[in-house]
Amino acid sequence: MGAMIPYVTETPDIRIPPNLLPADGRFGAGPSKVRPEAVAALSAASGSFLGTSHRQKTVKSVVGSLRAGLTSLFSLPDGYEVVLGNGGTTCFWDAATFGLIEHKSQHLSFGEFSSKFATAAATAPHLGDPEVISSEVGTHPLPVAREDVDLYALTHNETSTGVMMPILRPGGAPLPADGGGLVAVDATSGAGGLQVDPAEFDAYYFAPQKCFGSDGGLWVALLSPAAVDRIGSIAATGRWVPASMDLTIALDNARLEQTYNTPALATIFLFDNQVQWFNDNGGLGFSTGRSDRSAEILYSWADNSDFATPFVHREQDRSHVIGTIDFDDSIDAAVVAKVLRANGVVDTEPYRKLGRNQLRIAMFPGIDPEDIASLCACITHVVGALAQ
Ligand SMILES: *Cc1c(COP(=O)(O)O)cnc(C)c1O
Repeated sequence: MGAMIPYVTETPDIRIPPNLLPADGRFGAGPSKVRPEAVAALSAASGSFLGTSHRQKTVKSVVGSLRAGLTSLFSLPDGYEVVLGNGGTTCFWDAATFGLIEHKSQHLSFGEFSSKFATAAATAPHLGDPEVISSEVGTHPLPVAREDVDLYALTHNETSTGVMMPILRPGGAPLPADGGGLVAVDATSGAGGLQVDPAEFDAYYFAPQKCFGSDGGLWVALLSPAAVDRIGSIAATGRWVPASMDLTIALDNARLEQTYNTPALATIFLFDNQVQWFNDNGGLGFSTGRSDRSAEILYSWADNSDFATPFVHREQDRSHVIGTIDFDDSIDAAVVAKVLRANGVVDTEPYRKLGRNQLRIAMFPGIDPEDIASLCACITHVVGALAQ
C-alpha cells in the first residue's frame, strides 16, 4: 500500500509453462469451482431429473438426501432441522430479521459480509437498535454476553478479508433454553470447510456456491430446537412477515422435502452431490482436511517468499478456506491476477472494497490442494517474469 502503483492498461504477455499450471484454474471465492464429476452426474441424471416437478418424488428424494446428508455431515443432534429456501444468504438475513430476532441482536462486524446482517437488523422498524461490535479488517471481535440480546450474529469466515473465527457461544451467556440469546452463524463460506460443533450454534446458515461447489440462489439453515421454538414464538405474536421470508413456511416445506416456491433443481443436485462426496470420504474431517492442507501450502509459500505475506496477522485467524496474500509494493497484484487470468487461472483478484495490493484465493474443499501448490508456483513464475 502507500507507494504509487503504475497504471497498466495491457496485460503483459507472459505464458506460464503448462507443467506449472493447475489441473483446474478456478480459485474464486464464489461462485467457486464446481467439480466436473458433479456436473457429469447432473448430466447423467438430467433426462429424468431436470425439468420435472419439485413437488414430486424424483426431486423430493434429492432434497431429502441433501437434508439427511447435511444432518450426517454436521453430526446434528436430535431435534435439529435442516431448512432451505430461495434467495441465498442475503435473503436469509431478511428472513432472520423477521423470524429469528425477537427485539435486539448483537453483531460482530469485521468485513463486508458480517456488516450486512447488522445493517438489515438496524434498519428493521420492528426491532430495537442492534449492538454492533467491530474490529479492524484482518481481525475479528468476540461476542459479549448481554441480558438484553436475544440473538448473537457471528460469521464463521469473513470472505472479504480471509479471517476465520471459532464458533463458540459467548462466554458466560446462558443457553437459549435458560433464557440466553440464540447464536446465529453466517457460515456461507465456512460451512463444510471449517470444523464446527452444533452445540455451539442455534442457526448455522449458508449458500451452496462456496464449499459446496454448487450454484447460488439457495439458502440452507441448520436450526437447533431453540431456534425452531423461536420461529414459533415470534410467529405467535402475529408479527407481519412476507410469505417468501417466513421461516414458519420454510420449515413446514422443508419437513415435506420442499421449498415454498420453485428452487433451481440443478443447484440442489450439485449441492447434494458434493455433500455425498464429503460423506462418502469420511465427512467433515475429510472436507476440512482438504482445506487445512491447502491453507498450509498457501501460507507457508507466502511466509517463505520474499514478495508475499499473509494479510491476516494472527496465525489462528488466517482462514483455511479463503487466503488473502499481500504483495510487496514493487509488485502490482492486479497485474499478477490479470496474467494468471490470461493463462486460464481465474478469480484470484482481491475483494474490491478492501482496496489492498493482494490476491484472494479460495481453498474450498473441492479445490485440490495440489492445485493450490501449482497456483503458488505460477505466481512465483509470473512475479519473476514481471521483474525481467
Ligand atoms: C458469499 C457470502 C454471502 C452472500 O451470499 P449470497 O448467497 O450471495 O447472498 C454472505 N456471507 C458470506 C460470509 C459470504 O461469503
